[in-house]
Amino acid sequence: MKYASIPFNPGPPGWSLNEIDRRRHPRLQEDIQADWVIIGSGFAGVAFARRLANLDSRLKIVLIDAESAIESSAARNSGFIIGLPHNIGSSTAELKKAQDYRTLLQRGIQLLEEEVNTHQIECEWENAGKYHCQIDPASEAILQEYIDNLESMQEPYQLLDREALYEKLGTRLYSKGIYTPGCIQVNPAKLIAGLARSLPESVTVYDDTPALFIRNESGPHVVTPQGTIRARNVMLATNALSPELSPKQARQASMATYASITEPLTPEQRSRLPEMKSWGTTPVNAIAGATLRYTQDHRFLVRQCVDPALNGRITPAQSWKAAQQHLATFRKAYPQLNDVKLAHTWSGTISVTRNGAPVWGQLAPCVWTAGGCNGAGISKQTVAGNLLADYALGRENPLIAAMKALGQANYIPPSPLLDVFVIGTLWKERYFARKEA
Ligand SMILES: Cc1cc2nc3c(=O)[nH]c(=O)nc-3n(C[C@H](O)[C@H](O)[C@H](O)COP(=O)(O)OP(=O)(O)OC[C@H]3O[C@@H](n4cnc5c(N)ncnc54)[C@H](O)[C@@H]3O)c2cc1C
Repeated sequence: MKYASIPFNPGPPGWSLNEIDRRRHPRLQEDIQADWVIIGSGFAGVAFARRLANLDSRLKIVLIDAESAIESSAARNSGFIIGLPHNIGSSTAELKKAQDYRTLLQRGIQLLEEEVNTHQIECEWENAGKYHCQIDPASEAILQEYIDNLESMQEPYQLLDREALYEKLGTRLYSKGIYTPGCIQVNPAKLIAGLARSLPESVTVYDDTPALFIRNESGPHVVTPQGTIRARNVMLATNALSPELSPKQARQASMATYASITEPLTPEQRSRLPEMKSWGTTPVNAIAGATLRYTQDHRFLVRQCVDPALNGRITPAQSWKAAQQHLATFRKAYPQLNDVKLAHTWSGTISVTRNGAPVWGQLAPCVWTAGGCNGAGISKQTVAGNLLADYALGRENPLIAAMKALGQANYIPPSPLLDVFVIGTLWKERYFARKEA
């Protein structure tokens, strides 16, 4: 029997949270039964639990997490809730897929907005749009492809040069950029905390309860350190984490990425910048480049560096190296703020699939999953979790067809072949896009 490789990130995310957000659910300390056990309380797990409970209030639903929602990647991310796919492609088939993807992402935003409004979740929700920027003028072809994609999808955008970007972002780092409306920015830790605490009553949540393995004894038994859950069905909402729990060969790999945030700028430090509202930028190359945000409370966030985390465990040394890179990027972008320090650095994991498709649906009798976020999962994993509940209960939902149209992730080779492949791919990306770092 293989035990699950329980994820570990050194240190909490740096997003501000209040006392209520930080409240933990108890850990499981007895043997129980349930109709459904959901493993993982990120966006996929929470959306699945809510939808399942709303579809059938008689179901006994248990949601467990190795840590808690406010420690998952759902709380560790940069807080861009995207409504448009990053990559589209040029063929008619790819365009059709991109349109399905856009429909799903926009439904994900709508589902989140409904919950934020219903439960009054204070998460700094703001329709701020997003900038997509290049540093190196030689990256023009990538940006042009993005423009072509936006035009083929009839999406509005605005092209900005270095000086126009300076007025918006306070930096002359970027040679060119595109602004697209319709991207929401949030404090993601507050968002997932609010979503997890407002689940329907028929969902019982246990924190600090890692699933160690799943035993099959006329139905799944989820074994945790201090109790087991005998369930009729299991939903793996672990993204690429704990791959040993999956009854199928891996189709997604776990990668680590990192973020740092500064303290709020003082009024004097802000006077060294143009007058700015909150904003966010993504880089033309997500592996080499940095995502930047300027938050409502006047802090800068830098998300940069991607490396393998195939067992979900990230070391303090990896985080330290990322912090050095974040500081170098921040100093390069904002030389006028050389007295501003990074207050927190943290890591988190994302799932990457070979062909960019999700891992979604039924894996085996009684085992379901919604994974393969490919680095952008707030809206995507929300809608994937929501639709999986309809699918699993056999309910009709026209969006299930759009979800299926995204295809399924290809199989990936096992370690150590996978490790070599991942390291090689990352190295190539970083080398060719080194001027975007
Ligand atoms: C630094 C960073 C920046 C990012 N920025 C963005 C962004 O701006 N926008 C965006 O859309 N996405 C972003 N992402 C990606 C986004 O965070 C993920 O796509 C999203 O969190 C995936 O949601 P999920 O529910 O599928 O999985 P996760 O949020 O990873 O949740 C999985 C849960 O499973 C639990 N788990 C794993 N194994 C076990 C086990 N054995 N037993 C019990 N529980 C277990 C984990 O503890 C975790 O809570 C970013 C990610 C990172 C790390």
